[in-house]
Amino acid sequence: MSFSTLGLSNEIIRAVTERGYTEPTPIQMQAIPAVLLGKDLLAGAQTGTGKTASFTLPLLHRLSSDKSKGTANGYPPIRALILTPTRELAAQVEESVREYGKYLKLNSMVIFGGVSIHLQKQRLKGRVDILVATPGRLLDHVHQGTVNLSQIEVLVLDEADRMLDMGFINDIRRILALLPKQRQNLLFFATFSDKIKALAAGLLNHPTMIEVARRNVTADTIAQKVYQVDRDKKRQLLAHLIRRDSWYQVLVFTRTKYGADRLVKQLGEDRIQALAIHGNKSQPARTNALTKFKNGSLQVLVATDIAARGLDISELPHVVNFDLPNVPEDYVHRIGRTGRAGASGEAVSLVCVDEQHLLTDIEKLIDLRLPKEVVAGFSPNPDIKAEPIPNGRQERTKAGGEKRPARSIASPQISTKRKVAPPATNGDRSSRSRRSAKGDR
Ligand code: AMP
Repeated sequence: MSFSTLGLSNEIIRAVTERGYTEPTPIQMQAIPAVLLGKDLLAGAQTGTGKTASFTLPLLHRLSSDKSKGTANGYPPIRALILTPTRELAAQVEESVREYGKYLKLNSMVIFGGVSIHLQKQRLKGRVDILVATPGRLLDHVHQGTVNLSQIEVLVLDEADRMLDMGFINDIRRILALLPKQRQNLLFFATFSDKIKALAAGLLNHPTMIEVARRNVTADTIAQKVYQVDRDKKRQLLAHLIRRDSWYQVLVFTRTKYGADRLVKQLGEDRIQALAIHGNKSQPARTNALTKFKNGSLQVLVATDIAARGLDISELPHVVNFDLPNVPEDYVHRIGRTGRAGASGEAVSLVCVDEQHLLTDIEKLIDLRLPKEVVAGFSPNPDIKAEPIPNGRQERTKAGGEKRPARSIASPQISTKRKVAPPATNGDRSSRSRRSAKGDR
């Protein structure tokens, strides 16, 4: 199947062809026709499946084929709103909107916290057709009267499960209350849960339901390996592997922000250049680290799960789990950074005795026994007994949205294009009594 059979305009096909896409991915094949028909969508797809283009392309098509009705500030109003949980994802999505829409006369803008609100206000005075935003900063603009959402035709909630996990539910409800009732809603999630079900029931109108294969079970392009090692030898082992195997671009995950900073320092002492990306870092520092890592001038990027969520780094060759995540699904998200779009990748986990139970949980989730190895000179000391892992959540703060409770394994069993029961009302406006996390202001 090619993009031209999906009903997209020539301008859009030209942009994706120039980007090097020859055929749509499975989520694109299913989502694009449904969105073009104006249907609501409930889609289960992880980063790496091509989900961004699956909503961006038909959205661009729709907005460029219909003229907007009203005006705002003398300009056409904002017609599409894309909400994302993190700043990085917002920036990446807006970049995709610009790239895919480069032959169309539509303007897009991204707004998120951690950077000057003043510049955003200035820009919002001009023409913006498609707005990509994180919830907290969007509400700041709403409160200051600098954004008008009354003529939104299409709402996209990208990585909605992560937004809920990060405590954005009340912010989302506030935003929904500002949108017109008549609109198209597209809801994307990575892991299905009761919370997503409840959100979908209040928001979606007879949605088309799609779920594409989880990358973890099928991703045979990712070589997964476990190195067993003592906790206090992990840093030396990582430095050893980076040198031994000449890793030039490696994304390393730590459980905590403190652990990320400490590892960067220690790698620096080993003369391995590394930078960290997490919620306590300023936005310019995060952007700088990501840019350098993407352009190949930074060898090691150390990240926490939330900060790395949604990062689109093409053909990343190596991902290292310096600590195993507390939540097994995060393992899947982490290793999904590598082996993408047909490229092969390697995902290595450094596992100490304290983490064996986390490894067992992960193996259960992905239904696979991971090969285990010991590197010469780094054999675990059999006398060291397992100790409880310190709770990383203690250090989570509001900044950058690191806050997130642990959750249970969901079991998404949604068949392709299955219809669901009649809708609830369009726009969930229930309880606003609890204050939501404003992690992104
Ligand atoms: P996403 O799941 O949206 O984060 O996309 C993951 C990666 O796949 C991005 O680097 C996209 O540029 C790339 N991609 C999206 N659609 C296609 C396609 N049809 N063919 C090849 N690569 C694609």
